[in-house]
This record gives sequence, C-alpha cells and structure tokens, in this order.
Amino acid sequence: MEIFLSVILFIMGTFFGSFFTLAVYRIPLKKDITHEHSFCPNCNHKLGILDLFPVWSYLFLGGKCRYCGEKIRIRYFLLEILSGLIFVTMFLILNIHGNFFDVDNIGFFISFVFQYVTLVIVAGIDKEYRKINSSVLLFGVICQLLYILYLYMVKQFNMYRYIIYFMLFIIMFIIHKKNKENYITQILLLESYILFSIR
Ligand SMILES: [Zn+2]
Repeated sequence: MEIFLSVILFIMGTFFGSFFTLAVYRIPLKKDITHEHSFCPNCNHKLGILDLFPVWSYLFLGGKCRYCGEKIRIRYFLLEILSGLIFVTMFLILNIHGNFFDVDNIGFFISFVFQYVTLVIVAGIDKEYRKINSSVLLFGVICQLLYILYLYMVKQFNMYRYIIYFMLFIIMFIIHKKNKENYITQILLLESYILFSIR
C-alpha cells in the first residue's frame, strides 16, 4: 500500500514539476495557465499528450522536441523528478505511523503543496526576469490563510500571530505595488510571505 501510494504521489509530483515550467513561462506574459495548449517555444508546434507526460516524455524523446529536434533543457526534467521526490518524501514523513489519511495530515499536505507551488513559481520567475511576482505570493498567502482559518475553527488553533503577519504582508504588498522596481521592497515582500507561511 505504501509503495503504491508512493508511486501515485511521485507521478503527481512530476506533473506539478512540469506545471512549474509552464507557469513560470506564462504568468509573466499574462497568458492563460490552464486552458491554452502547450507548444514548443522553438518551432511553435502544438504538443500532444505523448509530449507532455512528465519525466517519461523527456526520456522517450531523448531530451529533444519531436517536431524540430531542438534540445529540451535538462533542468525541466530535473525539476519534474525533484518535485516527484519531494511529494514522496513528504508522504513518507506524514505516513510514519501509517496514518497519512488522517484529516490533519491531509490538510497539512495540501497546504504544503500550495506553499511549494508558490515558492517554486516565484523563484522561477525571479530567475528569468529578476522580479518577485506579488500576485503569485498573494495566491500563496490566501491558500495559507484558508488553512489557518480551518485550523482555527476545527482545532482552536491560536491564529493571532498570523493575523499580524497577514497584515504585514498586505502592507508590504501595497508598498510593492507602488514601487515595483525596488529590490529591497521585493525582498521585504518575500520575507513577509515567509513569516506568514511558516507554521
Ligand atoms: Zn520544436
């Protein structure tokens, strides 16, 4: 059972890994991240299901575009594998007493996935454009806020600290909106996100 779930979660993680590449490419261009077809950035050929399956497509196609032969960067492939491994490791940590399906663990896992998605996309966009994307951070903060509200209502979790961090984030968010190019403002925004997202 544990091995079966590990494999499922590994595959899930690799799909997230391939989603990161797409999100980092499309979000700064304000393109749709869910509906639009994927295509090769070199020859613009639309990609089919067989070209989009994480990890296996890369191996099967020998790291090249099926249509134009352009090399696909190995970092995409590594990101897919790493994401798969991170999902499995998190599962194994939470499943240490065989109780992964406990409501608390599932809630923690989902909140972890959202924070992971937020951070990797923000880091990826920063790498390509030297900019911290505040909209992606806001998405991560809202996900975390919902999780903390859930903990508060179900577990009587003490959320006062998070209210302060949340307000801090909103202040930084507004300052950042007015002053997008300033690198210090970007760092402060990121820092307020991290304060809020650590439990
Ligand atoms: Zn191509």
